[in-house]
Amino acid sequence: MSFALHGIPVSHGIAIGRAHLLAPAALEVVHYLVSPDQIEAEVSRFRDAVDLVVAELRALESHLPADAPAEFAALLELHRLILQDPLLSEQPAQLVRERRYNAEWALTTQLRAAVQQFEDIEDPYLASRKADVEQVVERVLKVLTGTANAFPEPAPGQDEMIVVAHDIAPADMLQFKKRLFGGFITDLGGATSHTAILARSLDIPAVVGLGNAGRLIRQDEYIIIDGDAGVVVVDPSPIVLEEYRLKRRDLEFARERLRRLRGMPTRTVDEVPVELFANIELPGDCEMANDVGAMGIGLYRTEFLFMNLGGKLPDEEQQFTAYREVVAAMTGRPVTIRTLDVGADKPLDDDDEDRNESANPALGLRAIRYCLTEPNMFLTQLRAILRASAFGTVRLLLPMLAHVHEIDQSLNLIEQAKGQLRERGVAFDEHIQIGGMIEIPAAALSLSTFVKRLDFLSIGTNDLIQYTLAIDRTDSSVAHLYDPVHPAVLYLISQTIQIGRRAGIPVSVCGEMAGDTAMARLLLGMGLRQFSMHPAQILAVKQEILRSNSKACAAQVKKILAASEPARIEVLLHKLVAL
Ligand code: PEP
Ligand code: MG
Repeated sequence: MSFALHGIPVSHGIAIGRAHLLAPAALEVVHYLVSPDQIEAEVSRFRDAVDLVVAELRALESHLPADAPAEFAALLELHRLILQDPLLSEQPAQLVRERRYNAEWALTTQLRAAVQQFEDIEDPYLASRKADVEQVVERVLKVLTGTANAFPEPAPGQDEMIVVAHDIAPADMLQFKKRLFGGFITDLGGATSHTAILARSLDIPAVVGLGNAGRLIRQDEYIIIDGDAGVVVVDPSPIVLEEYRLKRRDLEFARERLRRLRGMPTRTVDEVPVELFANIELPGDCEMANDVGAMGIGLYRTEFLFMNLGGKLPDEEQQFTAYREVVAAMTGRPVTIRTLDVGADKPLDDDDEDRNESANPALGLRAIRYCLTEPNMFLTQLRAILRASAFGTVRLLLPMLAHVHEIDQSLNLIEQAKGQLRERGVAFDEHIQIGGMIEIPAAALSLSTFVKRLDFLSIGTNDLIQYTLAIDRTDSSVAHLYDPVHPAVLYLISQTIQIGRRAGIPVSVCGEMAGDTAMARLLLGMGLRQFSMHPAQILAVKQEILRSNSKACAAQVKKILAASEPARIEVLLHKLVAL
């Protein structure tokens, strides 16, 4: 019988194939008391299983394929450390000795104690780490019970396999890289689960958080994953199957066509060169940026490096290592590192939320405001960025500027950080370019003073729209009012591009608008020559630019900017896209 399940879409695309059920969680185990003369043997059985899993994880860590996503090493290490914690590696042995529990029973008893601690945590990221503890324990249990998961090799010409699991441990995910699986679905997981993070980095369709897919789907049953809609169709009718096959073929053709554009220079029909940069959140994202031929990194959102560290901040060395990794991956092309943009919807941790007592956190202590109240933390980040600048081309970007004095204070601190490095005899780029995000209307309207102090500008349209229209970008109840082509927004963007150009400093757009193919001609016509976006969007935007004539766009955009009625703007925009 055909039916559909709805979960959380975590990785794009459509996968069609036969279900391969991973053995369900082995957490329900037999309980029995071991006889006194068997206690030491039982302890050894437990220790051997733990040692084997530790050795397995270590072996996986040291034999990671060169193209494995960077997160894998960290996750394998995390799992190994969890397992080596005395709570899981020592105390079960004590339970065997003191209460004569069999090894499986002792281990699951300890697991429950650990899980309880996680359940009391409100932070969704930390709470989701409970799954890591369960995955590690499950691995040991499978060794104890001799039921380790086997991943069969799909025979050539056979249908693709879709992995259906309660949850998938990072170590098991490695198999995905080596073998040809079409996609996967899991009962557990949320948008911040490691499984979701890894699915995106592997770029295979995936839906998580399906509840009980593992129970409803049978081995070898035909299933479809729609990784964009978060839908899983089980045992589809021939019509639905055909429909999805066509959809998948269309997506594959479109992808294939786009990939052919990789090596081509990005120029308009009238030979105007345009530069396409990537936005990244983590060093591992550089792989995809390189894969699509990005000109460099236009926005490195460093705040992700600061999150979920349990209230601690990454030190200078940790930050430097991450920044240098990005610089090295981009081999000489520019890397724009944005200083910490926390606050509002990106709190560092729970304490930070308490700290930001504003009733309107988006208008509160966010980004540069936060950094200027924590000069030591800011100086640490500035030194780390400066140090990375010795290894390639680094540009430093200041977020959420509204006042000229914020630029002056930041420039002073940058000078101070440079002085500290000189004293330590550490190398950095003395002429590092300093830019500012234009994402508050006040900044867009104060550009004459800003451009005297800055080397480049980057327009953050996500926030510029939010602050111009007074629309909270995270509030779904006002999402329909979030309008990138509101005349006021268009005016501010075009003014910023014009004034930057006249001052002779580069201007880019790094908000979501830059990655929207429907907006490419509008921005091009305003005179924009640098776009920065999620790497997945680069080739589609490139295709749009290759088909556009900058002069024709400019003429049409002039009309759009002169119009004030939204309906008229709409009509003119349609014409622009159809040019
Ligand atoms: C923006 O505001 O457009 C931007 C790029 O920054 P973020 O989305 O990180 O706020
Ligand atoms: Mg922003």
